[in-house]
Amino acid sequence: MPTITISLVLTFATPPSVGAGGASGTLADKVVARNAHGEFIIPASQVKGKLRHACEQMLRGRVPLCNPPRAEQMCPQIDKDDAGNALPQKDGLPCCVLCQIFGSAGYPSRLRFHDLVVTDADLLPPETLRAMVSLNRRRRVAEAQRLFLIETAPYFNGLQFQNSEAITGQVDQPSHIHIVLAGLQLLFAWGGGTSHGLGWGDVKWEAWLDGQLINKIDSEEVKQICLS
Ligand SMILES: [Zn+2]
Repeated sequence: MPTITISLVLTFATPPSVGAGGASGTLADKVVARNAHGEFIIPASQVKGKLRHACEQMLRGRVPLCNPPRAEQMCPQIDKDDAGNALPQKDGLPCCVLCQIFGSAGYPSRLRFHDLVVTDADLLPPETLRAMVSLNRRRRVAEAQRLFLIETAPYFNGLQFQNSEAITGQVDQPSHIHIVLAGLQLLFAWGGGTSHGLGWGDVKWEAWLDGQLINKIDSEEVKQICLS
């Protein structure tokens, strides 16, 4: 079974607001995430979630897919997509290509996602809280009681998060790594507040398939998936 390693470097053009909403102990509606060492991170779960969503946008309508995130609408609970097309099978049960790559309740993914960690931490200023106001678009005024706070990660222009082994593990077939890489090309914005201009960035990847460097996305491999 093919083994893959993907290195990711994420460079921000605007400050990110990353993390779970409503954390206790802070005024902020969003908080930056930190790992056990206190370093700012983009959590692995966010990398995985955004990447799966990007791959879904790319493949939806071209191949039969299930309907995340509700388990009862996902493989292997359903065997047809919304248009009535049969989902592919794996080990005798329905499993669409995205569940084969990213997993579902019935199929643990063999890919492992790892946190992206901030680089040049010593260049960072202290955290900042940004006040945001929710606007009523029709009346063009600020809505009452809709001031909210977002904690952005400390930011300087070109702030980077990276992990040389951001995605590791195995895929069923080599074409799956090309789907993952094509999905990475579609990721532009990270964390909360992106419609307020927060968290716009650029992803650079390097990838290895069974130890061999992959120089470019093989669009023929992706097309084969779409045609099969
Ligand atoms: Zn599925």
